[in-house]
Amino acid sequence: MTQVPIAEGVFTWPSDAPRLLGARCGECGTHTFPTQPGCPRCGSEAMATVELADRGTLFTFTTQGFLPKEPYTGPETEENFAGFVVGYVELPGEVIVETRITESDPAQLRIGMPVQLVVVPFRREPDGTEVMTYAFAPVTESGVR
Ligand SMILES: [Zn+2]
Repeated sequence: MTQVPIAEGVFTWPSDAPRLLGARCGECGTHTFPTQPGCPRCGSEAMATVELADRGTLFTFTTQGFLPKEPYTGPETEENFAGFVVGYVELPGEVIVETRITESDPAQLRIGMPVQLVVVPFRREPDGTEVMTYAFAPVTESGVR
């Protein structure tokens, strides 16, 4: 089966251990995600693409309870949309990333819990190609969910 990333340059794919791609400022060390050509802190254009940490902690989260408006390109319709959790994940010493969370029950989540980057199917094209996106999954004693 063919799998393609939802956008180029967002995460390493295909990969057994995917990583988000961010930018690091060569002048002041500020990280950004996604990559951007100029540093938001010092304005330097000495930004280099780097692989970000694949583990972090859940900084905050909210439930997306209604179907997102365009340009959202997910497979759901108003009828079958079940809701999902959107979170902010703090990658230690790097940056806070806005991301989908794999756990859809907010009662299973708590701020500060460890989370792990995963790459998951987002939608399937008519030709069978799977479009992959990134998400973060809670890490529990029994492993990554
Ligand atoms: Zn900078």
